[in-house]
Amino acid sequence: MNFTQDTVPAASPTLADLTGQVTGVVLVPGDDGYDAERSGYQTGYRHRPSVIVGAASAADVVAAVCYARAHGLPVSVQSTGHGLAAATDGGLLISTRRMDEVRIDAEARTAWAGAGALCGKAIEEAAPYGLAPVHGSSPGVSVAGFTLGGGLGILGREFGYASDHVRAVELVTADGELRRVSEARDPDLFRALRGGGHGLGVVTGLEFGLVPVARVYGGQLVFGADLLDEALAAYLAWTEDLPATLTSSMGLIAYPDVPAMPGHLRGRHLAHIRIAYTGTAEDGERLVAPLRAVGPRVTDTLRDMPYTESQTIHQDPTTPHAYDGDSVLLSGLDADALRAVAALTGPDAPMMTVVQLNHLGGALAEGGGSVGHRDARYLVRLLSLLDDTDVAAVRALHAEVRGVLAPWAVGRSVNFLFGDHGDAVADAYEEPVRRRLAGAKAAYDPENVFRA
Ligand SMILES: Cc1cc2nc3c(=O)[nH]c(=O)nc-3n(C[C@H](O)[C@H](O)[C@H](O)COP(=O)(O)OP(=O)(O)OC[C@H]3O[C@@H](n4cnc5c(N)ncnc54)[C@H](O)[C@@H]3O)c2cc1C
Repeated sequence: MNFTQDTVPAASPTLADLTGQVTGVVLVPGDDGYDAERSGYQTGYRHRPSVIVGAASAADVVAAVCYARAHGLPVSVQSTGHGLAAATDGGLLISTRRMDEVRIDAEARTAWAGAGALCGKAIEEAAPYGLAPVHGSSPGVSVAGFTLGGGLGILGREFGYASDHVRAVELVTADGELRRVSEARDPDLFRALRGGGHGLGVVTGLEFGLVPVARVYGGQLVFGADLLDEALAAYLAWTEDLPATLTSSMGLIAYPDVPAMPGHLRGRHLAHIRIAYTGTAEDGERLVAPLRAVGPRVTDTLRDMPYTESQTIHQDPTTPHAYDGDSVLLSGLDADALRAVAALTGPDAPMMTVVQLNHLGGALAEGGGSVGHRDARYLVRLLSLLDDTDVAAVRALHAEVRGVLAPWAVGRSVNFLFGDHGDAVADAYEEPVRRRLAGAKAAYDPENVFRA
């Protein structure tokens, strides 16, 4: 069936009409389940919609968009809430978590992921065939949200961005039409969706290519405060000359001295170097020797592992919490600047702040779509906890860090802007890409129905 606006009554549908059409749930403030449905991983910001449609199918999404259009309601989309940026007041929220289907076509080496399917589920489903999706550090983010913003993977230097592997996108646009968008059918919209896809419509599912990876050599080398300066200088020097089959990042984290912190982390300022390498373990051991030469590690978990254990490399937190975050893409970086960043965000910082430095290049520098600043060599991600701090203090600290990095800054990375950054999101794209994305928005959502 082709679901379009014609499938809803010509007169404005009522809430009862919408409830009758939808196979998922329709919730308004005060209903049981309303708060649970709008809640996600990010607890610092929350949508406050006047209607939520917990969609169970593409037809539910069409009905929700048509209802919103008829009532002049702005539409937001939420899967897991990891990337919640501008929370909307009023309006209609489409929650996609029920649309969590993943299908693998092992022969074609492709997967289909519904709008609410998590990266972790795609990893599990692809693994029996010796295949893997391109996914990031957290298995708990949705394939759709991650890929629409580009999708920086743990093997990014070898395989590029997740959006480089997309074959087709099923999308409901503002006119209520369910489209299958591909290079052949609609090249401009297809290009926009791959890296600049938040706010052009509601993705109901994606088809994407899988990569032949069944195992990986990876894990973390963790250095304590006594070796922090040496470790960060050694890491930067090390990234000068590495094969594209090795992707890595360094996290700088000052863990608070509070009882809730595990004993081995409590009150310590640590450098976590995270590595994923598809070559042999023997070659991996040889490649990491200059890092181990820095000195004794607090922990050293490098090992050969089945790909299904790759989420242990980063160990992203899974518990929902409140945070605000910014990102800086860099053309280069020196050890003095990185030390200054470590000092600003260390134990004396006004709030707990996680710094992550990603080594880019390799296949990340190539490819189409709308991913911005592909020539950047590093990405610095800043994520600060909001629990005891207001957002202004966080933004002030992030601005100080951005000042230190300014000599190399080329832009921002859209997947790592947490909280409302207003027009700063434009920094994620070069001017020609920005113009193309504005053109796609004007063509497919001229009334700005989708707020992202
Ligand atoms: C702990 C953590 C680790 C992360 N690691 C990585 C990483 O390694 N690499 C990386 O690239 N990113 C990473 N991210 C960023 C993450 O990929 C983005 O925040 C992503 O947008 C999350 O998507 P989501 O759907 O899970 O979250 P949501 O907050 O539900 O959605 C995020 C955005 O995507 C939009 N969206 C979601 N689903 C749809 C849809 N079906 N149709 C249209 N729009 C949709 C939403 O409207 C929103 O604007 C990480 C984030 C966190 C918090």
